[in-house]
Amino acid sequence: MQKRHYGKTGYDVSLLGMGCMRLPRLADGTVHREKAYELIRYAVDHGVSYFDSAYGYHNRASEEILGEAVEGERRKKIKIATKQPLGVMTDQAAIRKNLENTLKKLRTDYLDVYLIHGIGAGIWPEIKERAILKEYEKFREEGLIKAIGFSYHGNYDSFHEILTSYNWDMCQVQHNFLDTDREVTAKGLELAGERGVALVIMEPLRGGNLAAGSKAVNQIYADAPVKRPPVEWAFRYVAGFPQVSTVLSGMTTLEQLKENIEIFSKPDMLPGNLSNADLAMLAQIKQAYESVVTIPCTSCEYCLPCPQNVQIPAVFQRYNTAMMFENFEPSKRTYMFLTRGGTDASNCAECGTCETKCPQNIPIIKHLKTVHEALSGWVE
Ligand code: SF4
Ligand code: SF4
Repeated sequence: MQKRHYGKTGYDVSLLGMGCMRLPRLADGTVHREKAYELIRYAVDHGVSYFDSAYGYHNRASEEILGEAVEGERRKKIKIATKQPLGVMTDQAAIRKNLENTLKKLRTDYLDVYLIHGIGAGIWPEIKERAILKEYEKFREEGLIKAIGFSYHGNYDSFHEILTSYNWDMCQVQHNFLDTDREVTAKGLELAGERGVALVIMEPLRGGNLAAGSKAVNQIYADAPVKRPPVEWAFRYVAGFPQVSTVLSGMTTLEQLKENIEIFSKPDMLPGNLSNADLAMLAQIKQAYESVVTIPCTSCEYCLPCPQNVQIPAVFQRYNTAMMFENFEPSKRTYMFLTRGGTDASNCAECGTCETKCPQNIPIIKHLKTVHEALSGWVE
C-alpha cells in the first residue's frame, strides 16, 4: 500500500482511505453489520490506515460500526477522522456532548482528526462568529482530538477564504478528472499543499459514476495505448497530485476493496504518475462524459431527507445511468421500484428545501420533472 505524509501533522497514512458512508446495506436500508465489519477489518489488515466517518453517515450508525469493527489492536494501526455538522452544534455544551458521544461510539479515547462537516461559503461566517474552532482547540489541548480540519463543497474563491483564515491541519475536498474546472479545482489542491494542510480527496469517482461510461467513453479507454480499468485511471488522476495525502473511496463490497487495494499498492502510484498523453486522454474522456451526463449529482445526500420522501440522488442516478449507457429500459424498471415505494420524483411538492442544501447547485425541482417524464410508465 502506498503511503503519504499527512500535512504538518507528522502522520503517514495509506494513500487509499476508506470512506464509511457506503457500507453494505440490508434490504431495509440499514447497514449489514457483519459484512461491514468484515470489510473494515479486511481493509485494516491489508494496509488501509485512514478511515473517514461522520456524525450523520448511515443514519448515525457509521461511527458505531467503525468503532465496533476496529476496537482493540486494529484501532492502534489506523487514523480515524470524523465530522460534526454545524446543524447539531446548538451551543458549546452540545458541541462537547456530540464529541463525547462520537468517542463512545468509536470506542476510542481520541480522534486523530476532527472535522467540521461540510463548510461552505454559507456557514463559514457563523462558524467564525460563534468561535467554534476555539472549542475544537480546547478538545485538542485536552488530547481528545489530535488534528482539526474541515470538509468542503464549493468554489475556489470561498475555499481560499476558509483555508487562509485559520491554521488548519487538514481539509477534505471533492476532486476528480471531471472537476478540473469545478469545486476547488487543481488550484485549490495546490493552495492546500502550499500551506502544509493535509489534503484528503473525496468523490474521486464522482459518486461511482467514473467506474463505467458510455460507448463513446469506453471507446476512448479502449483506444488508449495503456490499458487500465476506468476506476484505476480515475484514482491515478488524483494520486498524481503531490499535495494529496489520501484518497477516500466509499467501498461497499469486498471485491471493490480488493481491487482498490491492488491499485493503490502499485509501485508507480506516485505523484506525477500520468504522462501528458494520459492526461490528454482523460480530458477527452471528460468531454465525452459531459456530453452525456446531464445532472451533475454526486449522491452526497446533503439534500436529504426530503419532507415528501423523494429519494433525490436515487432518482438522478437512474437518469444519469440511462444517459451514460444510452439505454433507458433498465433505469425505467428500477425507477418503478421508487414509484412503488412512494419515493419517485412525482412526489415532489416543490418546497425548494433541497435546492438550498445542494453543494452542486443543481436545479433539483426542474430535473425531477425531466426525469419523471423520461423514466415513468414501466409496467411488469
Ligand atoms: S423541492 Fe421537492 S424534492 Fe426538494 S425537498 Fe421539497 S419536496 Fe423534496
Ligand atoms: S442533488 Fe445535490 S445534494 Fe442531492 S445528492 Fe445530488 S449533489 Fe448531493
